[in-house]
Amino acid sequence: MAKAGIIDKARSERRNVLTEIEAKELLKQAGISVVDTKLATTREEAITISQQLGFPIVLKIVSSDVVHKSDAGGVKLGLKTAKQVGKAYDDILRAIRQKYPEAKIQGVSVQKMARLGVEVIIGMSKDAQFGPVLMFGLGGVLVEVLKDVSFRIVPLAKRDAREMIREIKGYPLLEGYRGQEPVDVANLEELILKVSSFAEQHPEVEELDLNPIFAYSDGAVAVDARVILGES
Ligand code: ADP
Ligand code: MG
Repeated sequence: MAKAGIIDKARSERRNVLTEIEAKELLKQAGISVVDTKLATTREEAITISQQLGFPIVLKIVSSDVVHKSDAGGVKLGLKTAKQVGKAYDDILRAIRQKYPEAKIQGVSVQKMARLGVEVIIGMSKDAQFGPVLMFGLGGVLVEVLKDVSFRIVPLAKRDAREMIREIKGYPLLEGYRGQEPVDVANLEELILKVSSFAEQHPEVEELDLNPIFAYSDGAVAVDARVILGES
Protein backbone atom coordinates (compact mmCIF):
# COMPACT_ATOMS: atom_id res chain seq x y z
CA MET A 1 0.00 0.00 0.00
CA ALA A 2 1.23 3.54 -0.77
CA LYS A 3 2.67 5.67 2.01
CA ALA A 4 -0.17 8.21 2.02
CA GLY A 5 -2.54 5.26 1.79
CA ILE A 6 -1.51 3.76 5.12
CA ILE A 7 -1.94 6.98 7.08
CA ASP A 8 -5.12 7.99 5.21
CA LYS A 9 -6.67 4.58 5.87
CA ALA A 10 -6.02 4.85 9.61
CA ARG A 11 -7.44 8.40 9.64
CA SER A 12 -10.54 7.35 7.72
CA GLU A 13 -11.11 4.63 10.33
CA ARG A 14 -10.57 7.25 13.08
CA ARG A 15 -7.53 5.37 14.39
CA ASN A 16 -4.41 7.09 15.75
CA VAL A 17 -2.55 3.85 16.27
CA LEU A 18 -1.18 2.07 13.21
CA THR A 19 -1.11 -1.71 13.35
CA GLU A 20 2.30 -3.41 13.55
CA ILE A 21 1.91 -4.35 9.88
CA GLU A 22 1.10 -0.78 8.80
CA ALA A 23 3.90 0.65 10.93
CA LYS A 24 6.46 -1.78 9.48
CA GLU A 25 5.30 -1.09 5.92
CA LEU A 26 5.65 2.67 6.43
CA LEU A 27 9.13 2.26 7.91
CA LYS A 28 10.19 -0.16 5.20
CA GLN A 29 9.26 2.46 2.60
CA ALA A 30 11.63 4.83 4.44
CA GLY A 31 14.48 2.33 4.00
CA ILE A 32 14.36 1.08 7.59
CA SER A 33 15.01 -2.64 7.91
CA VAL A 34 12.03 -4.51 9.42
CA VAL A 35 11.06 -8.18 9.60
CA ASP A 36 8.82 -9.04 6.66
CA THR A 37 5.33 -9.27 8.21
CA LYS A 38 1.99 -10.33 6.71
CA LEU A 39 -1.60 -10.27 7.94
CA ALA A 40 -3.63 -13.46 8.33
CA THR A 41 -7.34 -13.36 9.03
CA THR A 42 -7.89 -17.11 9.28
CA ARG A 43 -6.01 -20.03 10.78
CA GLU A 44 -5.50 -21.54 7.29
CA GLU A 45 -4.12 -18.28 5.96
CA ALA A 46 -1.65 -18.10 8.85
CA ILE A 47 -0.43 -21.59 7.99
CA THR A 48 -0.12 -20.84 4.24
CA ILE A 49 1.85 -17.63 4.90
CA SER A 50 4.12 -19.49 7.36
CA GLN A 51 4.92 -22.09 4.73
CA GLN A 52 5.72 -19.34 2.23
CA LEU A 53 7.97 -17.43 4.66
CA GLY A 54 9.64 -20.52 6.12
CA PHE A 55 9.87 -21.77 9.72
CA PRO A 56 10.48 -20.87 12.51
CA ILE A 57 7.64 -18.37 12.62
CA VAL A 58 6.25 -15.76 15.03
CA LEU A 59 2.54 -14.94 15.34
CA LYS A 60 1.19 -11.78 16.99
CA ILE A 61 -2.22 -10.29 17.62
CA VAL A 62 -3.13 -7.38 15.34
CA SER A 63 -5.56 -5.09 17.13
CA SER A 64 -5.38 -1.33 17.61
CA ASP A 65 -6.92 -1.96 21.03
CA VAL A 66 -3.97 -4.10 22.20
CA VAL A 67 -0.81 -2.06 22.72
CA HIS A 68 1.35 -4.48 24.73
CA LYS A 69 0.91 -7.61 22.68
CA SER A 70 2.99 -10.08 24.71
CA ASP A 71 1.53 -9.03 28.09
CA ALA A 72 -1.87 -10.08 26.78
CA GLY A 73 -0.74 -13.50 25.49
CA GLY A 74 -0.72 -12.08 21.97
CA VAL A 75 2.79 -13.16 20.88
CA LYS A 76 3.93 -16.73 20.08
CA LEU A 77 7.59 -17.22 19.23
CA GLY A 78 9.58 -20.00 17.58
CA LEU A 79 6.75 -21.93 15.87
CA LYS A 80 8.33 -24.75 13.91
CA THR A 81 5.47 -26.55 12.14
CA ALA A 82 2.11 -25.83 10.47
CA LYS A 83 0.43 -27.57 13.39
CA GLN A 84 2.15 -25.31 15.93
CA VAL A 85 1.15 -22.25 13.88
CA GLY A 86 -2.48 -23.38 13.78
CA LYS A 87 -2.58 -23.94 17.53
CA ALA A 88 -0.81 -20.63 18.25
CA TYR A 89 -3.36 -18.81 16.05
CA ASP A 90 -6.25 -20.21 18.10
CA ASP A 91 -4.46 -19.64 21.42
CA ILE A 92 -3.77 -15.98 20.61
CA LEU A 93 -7.37 -15.24 19.65
CA ARG A 94 -8.68 -17.04 22.73
CA ALA A 95 -6.32 -15.17 25.08
CA ILE A 96 -7.14 -11.77 23.60
CA ARG A 97 -10.90 -12.34 23.54
CA GLN A 98 -10.72 -13.35 27.17
CA LYS A 99 -8.56 -10.48 28.34
CA TYR A 100 -10.08 -7.77 26.10
CA PRO A 101 -13.63 -8.82 25.20
CA GLU A 102 -14.26 -5.43 23.57
CA ALA A 103 -11.09 -5.37 21.42
CA LYS A 104 -11.53 -5.04 17.68
CA ILE A 105 -9.26 -7.69 16.18
CA GLN A 106 -7.89 -7.15 12.65
CA GLY A 107 -6.18 -10.53 12.53
CA VAL A 108 -2.84 -12.09 13.36
CA SER A 109 0.53 -11.05 11.97
CA VAL A 110 2.82 -13.74 10.58
CA GLN A 111 6.57 -13.13 10.45
CA LYS A 112 9.81 -15.03 10.44
CA MET A 113 11.52 -15.62 13.75
CA ALA A 114 14.57 -13.36 13.50
CA ARG A 115 17.97 -14.62 14.61
CA LEU A 116 18.71 -13.35 18.12
CA GLY A 117 20.87 -10.25 18.27
CA VAL A 118 21.65 -7.55 20.80
CA GLU A 119 18.31 -5.85 21.55
CA VAL A 120 18.29 -2.10 21.08
CA ILE A 121 15.47 0.40 20.81
CA ILE A 122 14.95 3.61 18.90
CA GLY A 123 12.03 5.83 19.80
CA MET A 124 10.67 9.20 18.75
CA SER A 125 8.37 11.38 20.80
CA LYS A 126 7.42 15.03 20.69
CA ASP A 127 8.57 17.48 23.27
CA ALA A 128 6.43 20.59 23.82
CA GLN A 129 9.51 22.79 23.58
CA PHE A 130 11.92 20.94 21.28
CA GLY A 131 9.54 19.13 18.94
CA PRO A 132 10.51 15.63 17.78
CA VAL A 133 13.20 14.00 19.91
CA LEU A 134 14.91 10.66 19.25
CA MET A 135 15.78 8.18 21.95
CA PHE A 136 18.30 5.34 21.74
CA GLY A 137 18.90 2.60 24.28
CA LEU A 138 19.55 -1.07 24.86
CA GLY A 139 16.38 -3.14 24.90
CA GLY A 140 14.77 -5.20 27.61
CA VAL A 141 15.44 -4.60 31.29
CA LEU A 142 18.25 -2.14 30.59
CA VAL A 143 15.78 0.41 29.28
CA GLU A 144 12.82 -0.51 31.49
CA VAL A 145 14.64 -0.74 34.81
CA LEU A 146 17.84 1.23 34.38
CA LYS A 147 16.57 3.89 31.94
CA ASP A 148 19.95 3.73 30.19
CA VAL A 149 18.98 5.87 27.21
CA SER A 150 20.20 8.91 25.29
CA PHE A 151 18.27 11.65 23.50
CA ARG A 152 18.84 14.05 20.59
CA ILE A 153 16.64 16.62 18.91
CA VAL A 154 15.48 15.95 15.31
CA PRO A 155 17.00 16.49 12.77
CA LEU A 156 20.14 14.66 13.88
CA ALA A 157 23.56 15.15 12.35
CA LYS A 158 25.92 12.21 11.82
CA ARG A 159 27.81 13.25 14.90
CA ASP A 160 24.64 13.13 17.04
CA ALA A 161 23.97 9.55 15.99
CA ARG A 162 27.57 8.64 16.77
CA GLU A 163 27.48 10.25 20.19
CA MET A 164 24.09 9.03 21.30
CA ILE A 165 25.10 5.40 20.79
CA ARG A 166 28.41 5.84 22.61
CA GLU A 167 27.08 7.76 25.60
CA ILE A 168 24.78 5.05 26.99
CA LYS A 169 26.30 3.15 29.92
CA GLY A 170 25.69 -0.17 28.20
CA TYR A 171 27.79 0.76 25.15
CA PRO A 172 30.46 -1.90 25.93
CA LEU A 173 27.74 -4.52 25.32
CA LEU A 174 27.60 -3.34 21.70
CA GLU A 175 31.34 -3.74 21.32
CA GLY A 176 31.08 -7.45 22.09
CA TYR A 177 31.10 -8.13 25.80
CA ARG A 178 32.22 -11.56 27.10
CA GLY A 179 32.19 -13.37 23.82
CA GLN A 180 29.00 -11.76 22.57
CA GLU A 181 28.96 -10.86 18.87
CA PRO A 182 30.13 -7.24 18.39
CA VAL A 183 27.45 -5.10 16.80
CA ASP A 184 27.75 -3.21 13.50
CA VAL A 185 27.65 0.23 15.14
CA ALA A 186 28.03 2.13 11.85
CA ASN A 187 24.83 0.44 10.66
CA LEU A 188 23.04 1.54 13.86
CA GLU A 189 24.19 5.11 13.27
CA GLU A 190 22.67 4.97 9.78
CA LEU A 191 19.47 3.51 11.18
CA ILE A 192 19.18 6.36 13.70
CA LEU A 193 19.67 8.89 10.90
CA LYS A 194 16.98 7.19 8.81
CA VAL A 195 14.54 7.36 11.71
CA SER A 196 15.44 11.04 12.15
CA SER A 197 14.64 11.71 8.45
CA PHE A 198 11.44 9.72 8.76
CA ALA A 199 10.34 11.87 11.72
CA GLU A 200 11.22 15.02 9.83
CA GLN A 201 9.26 13.95 6.77
CA HIS A 202 6.22 12.80 8.77
CA PRO A 203 5.15 15.60 11.10
CA GLU A 204 1.80 13.78 11.40
CA VAL A 205 3.57 11.01 13.35
CA GLU A 206 3.36 11.81 17.04
CA GLU A 207 5.20 8.82 18.47
CA LEU A 208 7.34 6.02 17.12
CA ASP A 209 8.80 2.95 18.78
CA LEU A 210 11.12 0.37 17.29
CA ASN A 211 11.24 -2.00 20.23
CA PRO A 212 13.12 -4.21 19.91
CA ILE A 213 15.60 -3.95 17.06
CA PHE A 214 17.96 -6.93 16.84
CA ALA A 215 21.47 -5.65 16.16
CA TYR A 216 24.00 -7.99 14.54
CA SER A 217 27.63 -7.88 13.42
CA ASP A 218 26.27 -7.36 9.90
CA GLY A 219 23.25 -5.07 10.17
CA ALA A 220 20.10 -4.78 12.25
CA VAL A 221 16.38 -5.49 11.90
CA ALA A 222 13.32 -4.16 13.76
CA VAL A 223 11.04 -6.98 14.90
CA ASP A 224 8.36 -4.77 16.47
CA ALA A 225 7.18 -1.30 15.44
CA ARG A 226 4.58 1.09 16.80
CA VAL A 227 3.49 4.35 15.18
CA ILE A 228 1.00 6.77 16.72
CA LEU A 229 -0.45 9.65 14.71
CA GLY A 230 -1.25 13.07 16.16
CA GLU A 231 -4.76 14.47 16.29
CA SER A 232 -5.65 15.63 12.79
P1 ADP B 1 5.09 -6.25 22.43
O1 ADP B 1 6.19 -5.27 22.58
O2 ADP B 1 3.84 -5.62 21.90
O3 ADP B 1 4.82 -7.06 23.66
P2 ADP B 1 6.81 -7.59 20.44
O4 ADP B 1 6.37 -7.61 19.02
O5 ADP B 1 7.89 -6.63 20.79
O6 ADP B 1 5.49 -7.36 21.33
O7 ADP B 1 7.25 -9.06 20.85
C1 ADP B 1 7.69 -9.38 22.16
C2 ADP B 1 9.11 -9.95 22.12
O8 ADP B 1 9.16 -11.08 21.29
C3 ADP B 1 10.14 -8.99 21.53
O9 ADP B 1 10.64 -8.14 22.51
C4 ADP B 1 11.20 -9.94 20.98
O10 ADP B 1 12.10 -10.33 21.98
C5 ADP B 1 10.37 -11.13 20.54
N1 ADP B 1 10.05 -11.08 19.11
C6 ADP B 1 9.03 -10.41 18.52
N2 ADP B 1 9.02 -10.56 17.18
C7 ADP B 1 10.06 -11.37 16.88
C8 ADP B 1 10.59 -11.92 15.65
N3 ADP B 1 10.04 -11.69 14.46
N4 ADP B 1 11.70 -12.70 15.75
C9 ADP B 1 12.28 -12.97 16.94
N5 ADP B 1 11.83 -12.49 18.12
C10 ADP B 1 10.73 -11.70 18.11
MG1 MG C 1 7.78 -4.64 21.43
